[in-house]
Amino acid sequence: MWEPSVCTKDCPDTCGLLAKVENGIITRVKGDPDHPFTQGFICKKAGFFPGHVHNENRIITPIRRTGPSTDIESAVDSDFIIIWGNNSLTTNVHAWPFYKKAMKKGARLVVIDPYRTRTAKEADIHLMAMPGTDAALALGMMQILIEEDLIDLDYLAQPHPGRQGSQPAHQSAAHGPGKYLRLPLQPGGGGT
Ligand code: SF4
Repeated sequence: MWEPSVCTKDCPDTCGLLAKVENGIITRVKGDPDHPFTQGFICKKAGFFPGHVHNENRIITPIRRTGPSTDIESAVDSDFIIIWGNNSLTTNVHAWPFYKKAMKKGARLVVIDPYRTRTAKEADIHLMAMPGTDAALALGMMQILIEEDLIDLDYLAQPHPGRQGSQPAHQSAAHGPGKYLRLPLQPGGGGT
């Protein structure tokens, strides 16, 4: 049986969907041809819904955090903030007041982005990385952190998802992270 539905992604298209339900399980999703705007075709993301909805790893009950908070609120007490590849001022607007509060208290803001976004214009420093060089820049920064003994080893000794397998790139560090900047360091302000 095909049931009418709508895409739940935070996307302006809001596609009309038809979900095939068999024995209470969604087995397929396709576009609803009767939807006046989206007219029966959908992007690839909605096609993955059956696997997501019934995935055994999906969180389906409320969870209480027991570890330390990593909420955005903690940014207010930071003295150095890096926003990497995120135009927060336009696309993550609710985080921006926390950054502003921190900056009013003296925090410095660095934005790493190949494009001079509104957020980059507000930064103390805009690192305009060349497109596709983020990983090299990150590896170069990691190498400097290692060489200058700036790493909190106790913190790193704790398990963190995604950290496994990351290694400093000595080749990247040999050139220095400045090699990967599109333009010299940009001060905040100006731009379009
Ligand atoms: S199916 Fe794709 S295009 Fe349509 S609303 Fe969902 S995410 Fe957007």
